[in-house]
Amino acid sequence: MTNQLQQLLNRRTSALLTARPDLGPILALQGALLRETLTESRPPNVRLHVPDPGSARSRLKEGVPLLDNEPLLVDVHYAADLFERLLNVVLRLGDAEATARAAPLVAAAADGRLEPDALFTEMLLGHQDHVAALAGDVGADADFVVSLTRLAVAPLLRAYASRLATLVEQLADEVGWLRGYCPVCGAPPLLGELRGVELRLFLRCSACGFAWRSRRLFCPFCETDDYRALRTVQVEGDNRFRVQVCDRCRGYLKVGNAFDPPPAELLLLDDLASLDLDLVAIDQDYARPSDAGFRRAHPPAGVPAK
Ligand SMILES: [Zn+2]
Ligand SMILES: [Zn+2]
Repeated sequence: MTNQLQQLLNRRTSALLTARPDLGPILALQGALLRETLTESRPPNVRLHVPDPGSARSRLKEGVPLLDNEPLLVDVHYAADLFERLLNVVLRLGDAEATARAAPLVAAAADGRLEPDALFTEMLLGHQDHVAALAGDVGADADFVVSLTRLAVAPLLRAYASRLATLVEQLADEVGWLRGYCPVCGAPPLLGELRGVELRLFLRCSACGFAWRSRRLFCPFCETDDYRALRTVQVEGDNRFRVQVCDRCRGYLKVGNAFDPPPAELLLLDDLASLDLDLVAIDQDYARPSDAGFRRAHPPAGVPAK
């Protein structure tokens, strides 16, 4: 599986590089980071209680993602090992700016000032603000630590999502899950995908990569379906992606044709391929809302994962 993903990553990065030679330097770093996340000596340890369909159905009906309030095992060892390897990739391939941003983090890690348990537990819960605060506590660059931690924890979240995927796919159709956040983990979407000949819209989770059905005229961030607030912006030269903006919450979502949707592990490549659209949206004062999605609570302390 890992080997297949690596081959797919190589194929897709070289296709992207041919189409977009200007992305070369970013692709070299991002491609190497993704390649590192596909290199593992063992799969992450996952322990969760899979709910019975009845209780899962009623939770989804109430808009509650299935990982909410679940005491999950956090494979800190796995995430810490990947985190360290990713940091080394940045130090090896990053430009002067990237290595300067990494320096305080390297120092904090070397002194043992960084709490891996807290860092990875917060990120598994999707509490980016708490991860940023932990980074601030040790004098590290918050955005940098958040993005690296997100990558380090993604395999864990994907492993949890794959345990629940079949159940959630069945039930989401049944209960008509049309929320703006992931029914598995509660995170907001990274991208929208138009799939099949009917161009049905699916949203892809920014944290675990899960795909769920959505509506064409809908803002996933503030959940409005008021057509007067929603508008699509096309960018000249990009036939695959467009950007949907919302004038109610000033959020934007990139939506692309996906005849061959990428596996969760490679979703970031599509985000990278459509970088121009971020610039267009940001230039018009739209943003990816950082506080969107369903905020999961810390599960009660002392409850071991079953
Ligand atoms: Zn998710
Ligand atoms: Zn909105």
